[in-house]
Amino acid sequence: MSGGDFRLPEILPLHATAVAEWQRCRREYRSDQLLGVPPSDEGPSPDIGVAVHAMLRQVHETGSCRDDDHVRDVLAAHGFDGPGPVLGYVERHARRCPADPTWSAHELDLARFHRMPPPMFMVTGRIDAVWIHDGIVDARDYKTGAAPSTDHVRDDLRARLQAWLLAARAARKGLRLRVRYEYLSAEIDEDPQPFEPDADDLAAIDEELRGVAEQIWNEREFAGVADPEVCRWCRYRSICPASAAPAMPSWPLPPEERLEGAETAPADDLAAEAY
Ligand SMILES: [Zn+2]
Repeated sequence: MSGGDFRLPEILPLHATAVAEWQRCRREYRSDQLLGVPPSDEGPSPDIGVAVHAMLRQVHETGSCRDDDHVRDVLAAHGFDGPGPVLGYVERHARRCPADPTWSAHELDLARFHRMPPPMFMVTGRIDAVWIHDGIVDARDYKTGAAPSTDHVRDDLRARLQAWLLAARAARKGLRLRVRYEYLSAEIDEDPQPFEPDADDLAAIDEELRGVAEQIWNEREFAGVADPEVCRWCRYRSICPASAAPAMPSWPLPPEERLEGAETAPADDLAAEAY
């Protein structure tokens, strides 16, 4: 099947995952974003990050992250009793938390539409936390994993996308905009340099996103990247003809087929273990 066998939506949805997939592998992008193919393989398993994000939201929406009793109550109510790892993440966030914000929101979902010049696209994204203080719209992204790959938040596409989503709102209120990453793992001591985009930066992001949308519109092949480093984590690796890391699909199978497939299952276990 060629890339031209389906129609792209007139307003192309762009979000961080879609753009990351597009940049990683065009076939993965097509399978997931355009065709909605259910994944045939396990992806990276969700880590403690999901719990940390949920707890940080709860802590802030019902009190302050600096109130030790409150933090412990919220965590205990969700099964994270005592001085476990989740508490450590919340404590390390609290040191970075703005002291006297006039406004805040948590897990804020945003959308922004681009009409002209074509093609049209709609960017959506979720911001972990937004604080307004000292004339700044201070957006935070909580990181619970490995050390940053760059010293500057602006180098990360996800941050540029967040800035683009928030820029008009900040400008309307006459506030500066800052996007900061909070690296909350115990072994990382320094956050990368926050991104404070100026008008030129925002125009460049606009053009960057428009460029991505245009590339997608012009794409015909949607060929797989066939790179073992990319393919080994791909959730379509067992059904992709270009896969450089073939595996067996983990779709639910009827009992008799499951028996037949059992001999080859260890390939998948290995992949899961390597992660
Ligand atoms: Zn806080």
